[in-house]
Amino acid sequence: MEPQATSSGFLWAAAALLPGGWASDVRIEWRDGRIARVEADAQARGGEERVGVLLPGMPNLHSHAFQRGMAGLTEYRGPAADNFWSWRSLMYRFVGRMTPEDLEAVTTWAFVEMLEAGFTRVGEFHYVHHDPTGRPYADPAELTARVIAAAERTGIALTLLPVFYAQGGFGGAPANEGQKRFLHDVPRFARLLEASRRLVGKLPDALLGIAPHSLRAVTPGQLTELLPLAASGPVHMHAAEQTGEVEQCLAWSGARPVQWLLDHAPVDARWCLVHSTHLDDSEVARLARSGAVAGLCPITEANLGDGIFPATKFLAAGGRFGIGTDSNVSISVGDELRQLEYSQRLRDRARNVVEGAVPSTGRTLFDGALRGGSQALGIEAAQAGIVDGAPADFLSLNEKSPLLAERSGDALLDSFVFAGLRDAVDGVWRAGKKQVTGGRHHLREGTERAWRLTLARLLRE
Ligand SMILES: [Zn+2]
Repeated sequence: MEPQATSSGFLWAAAALLPGGWASDVRIEWRDGRIARVEADAQARGGEERVGVLLPGMPNLHSHAFQRGMAGLTEYRGPAADNFWSWRSLMYRFVGRMTPEDLEAVTTWAFVEMLEAGFTRVGEFHYVHHDPTGRPYADPAELTARVIAAAERTGIALTLLPVFYAQGGFGGAPANEGQKRFLHDVPRFARLLEASRRLVGKLPDALLGIAPHSLRAVTPGQLTELLPLAASGPVHMHAAEQTGEVEQCLAWSGARPVQWLLDHAPVDARWCLVHSTHLDDSEVARLARSGAVAGLCPITEANLGDGIFPATKFLAAGGRFGIGTDSNVSISVGDELRQLEYSQRLRDRARNVVEGAVPSTGRTLFDGALRGGSQALGIEAAQAGIVDGAPADFLSLNEKSPLLAERSGDALLDSFVFAGLRDAVDGVWRAGKKQVTGGRHHLREGTERAWRLTLARLLRE
């Protein structure tokens, strides 16, 4: 199956979720990949594709795509208590063997799966830069180019977030052996960023930000030097994912990670603090006020045993959030949103705890993650969703799914999030091109073959 040859076209939906809510009989027209007209109560015209329910594509604000290759390989008990840090050592061994070709094959497959899930833009927090010995490749942007090639091939919109990583721990602790493929000093990173800017410029709507990895990996002085390099692009940083990290940060600085950033860095609406799992009440209020996005990765955070983000308090304080698939142990919009809500229910022993403008929990979660995820990936608020001028990025729900029978309006989203639909997504359009039909990306076969060959090489040898 080939995608449509042109990125101009029309689509008619019996129901569509627009920024103002549900609308019926919606006709959407796009040109050069961007929505040119959205008309409700419109007649379908002959020859136009018709769908039942249309949703805006969801941004995936935090991914390390290559980690998809490790999904399911770290779910067994070791000799000692297992936690994030034991997972990380396996990740370091896996990444230690990857060639540029491997990285491209695994990333391409992960992007195919993201599109099939209804994620139409990915924030790739890309931190593997050098060869397995830790030396830069002849082209220092070799691996960056591989990520960009994967985005170009699959059609997913890319917000590239090249990662700056320099230390092994708080206070300038030296990096360890497993981290040698990640390391830069600021001048070399600036050159990588320049090369990335040129490469990203070749994709029609790709964007570039920066990602100082975390306060573990970046000193305050480096952070100050790095921020001007972001120009007006997004700034993403891991913060407060584990209690161990909070304790180390307190020992180093007397402040908690998010508190330290709010005190010392110009955290505002351009920023995304990834995880922000461990916040005290003052950090909740201040982070919400800053306008920054909390980059929640509920499945990965549950998988790694990180802790529970205070979503109810954060949303009540007006905080913004988006979702990311992070380690890519699972790639699903519904799973991420459901895990976010269930973590709160389990903690509070209550139901439907995330409050929004509408009673529907599924809709509150979907709308919030769409808005916050778009902001975090550099999309203007006016262009988040199915609206004039926005990229023609949307998905149609599978009307044949038995679990969508007799649902309409917000009940569709509640079912999408909570009913565990395996076959929820039917079509996915990206910049007006239909990349996914009947739940399958048009490149699925070839990219799956390359993925299998790559894993055989990486895991058997
Ligand atoms: Zn991450």
